[in-house]
Amino acid sequence: MIYLPMPTWPDVPRPVAGCERCRVLRQQRALAIQRGDRSAASDCNVLIRRHHVEVHG
Ligand SMILES: [Zn+2]
Repeated sequence: MIYLPMPTWPDVPRPVAGCERCRVLRQQRALAIQRGDRSAASDCNVLIRRHHVEVHG
């Protein structure tokens, strides 16, 4: 997986190793950022944070 330096995007919790949901959400966010879709990326940020609180918090 490729992580592009993207300082203008808000950081999100690090994906937890072995968690499929973390992996999928990070991938969706990366794809949204790649195509410049701020709306979709923002949605992913919310989903990632919520997931971390509910599952890993
Ligand atoms: Zn997770």
